[in-house]
Amino acid sequence: MSGNLMAVDKLNKDDQIVITGAGGFIAGALTRYYHEQGFTRIRAIDKKPLDDWYQLVPGVESLTFDLSQRDNCSKAAEGAVEVYNLAADMGGMGFIEKYRVECLRSILINTHMLEAAYQAGAERYFFSSSACAYNIQLQQDPNVRALKETDAYPAFPERGYGWEKLMSEIFCQEYWAERELKTFIARFHNVYGPHGTWDGGREKAPAALCRKVIAAKDAGDHRIEIWGDGSQTRSFMYIADCIKGIDQIMHCDDLIATPINLGSSELISIDDLVTMIEVIAGVELDRKYKLDAPRGVAGRNSDNTMIEQYLDWEPNIPLQKGMEETYTWIEQQYQDRKAGKRTVS
Ligand code: NAD
Repeated sequence: MSGNLMAVDKLNKDDQIVITGAGGFIAGALTRYYHEQGFTRIRAIDKKPLDDWYQLVPGVESLTFDLSQRDNCSKAAEGAVEVYNLAADMGGMGFIEKYRVECLRSILINTHMLEAAYQAGAERYFFSSSACAYNIQLQQDPNVRALKETDAYPAFPERGYGWEKLMSEIFCQEYWAERELKTFIARFHNVYGPHGTWDGGREKAPAALCRKVIAAKDAGDHRIEIWGDGSQTRSFMYIADCIKGIDQIMHCDDLIATPINLGSSELISIDDLVTMIEVIAGVELDRKYKLDAPRGVAGRNSDNTMIEQYLDWEPNIPLQKGMEETYTWIEQQYQDRKAGKRTVS
């Protein structure tokens, strides 16, 4: 990797870092990452009660606040040098196609957090946008042309969730243009890995498929239901790549107020992903395709020309390796749940 600046180069160890959505998947991993680097003042916030957080990092100030409320955002941002806003009401396609109002209402979180960060005099603000902000008309063929940053306009994003992301990006851009708050915007493409949602309706394809394979194997019922016809293509980024990318993007001054893809460019069809998981699990299942299930766009991949250009790096952990880690973790969760132990989903 190149000599890109990261938090360790830009911050004092006792600078206040604020991370929202920290009871969830990505922000939980980000909290752990900064804690392990020796930052001593991390404030982690989520609306979920602490007992429901996916990861609770010892030594980190962990708070339960609903950040759609302005006053809570002000308290959350107090003294902040850097704010990472990853809180959002979100899930896989099954969730975002059904709950568009909930997704849109996340605009309150970013709107209030951004103002609170500005009022607190924060130096940097990170916003987790999404590939769902891209024009859906460019994603109607499984043989996709990878999406580059300019493909967000003319705007025609995913209903609900995608519009919220696009509008929040604009807020971030204008806070820089008008108020000189350094904002950073990454468009994540499907993130997966241990400590993510794997059941309950908000899980995404890699976790859902691992769970289905594990359940089929466990029950000795060698069948699997797949949403759509299996030809949909996607790229999936392993959590460790996502965290490394967030740190680098947040500390690259050439990327202020500039949305950038943060995703893997390793494209795979859902059918091939199922095969990959079957091989990891050592089973072969009969596939049933549920054609009326939510399936999202036909194809989507990340064009990484820009991130290569700015950071001389792109997410590069192979899907095979990441899926092996993820499968092992979900299998353990599955066994823990059967044994009556606490699990994240
Ligand atoms: P997640 O659901 O695991 O985490 C989000 C957290 O935000 C949850 O714990 C939730 O309780 C919290 N939250 C929701 N509303 C809140 C509120 N009003 N106040 C405080 N906390 C609130 O999701 P994730 O996968 O970790 O996603 C993190 C961010 O990355 C989100 O902004 C999401 O839109 C974005 N993103 C994720 C992916 C992905 O593949 N996981 C892809 C693109 C974008």
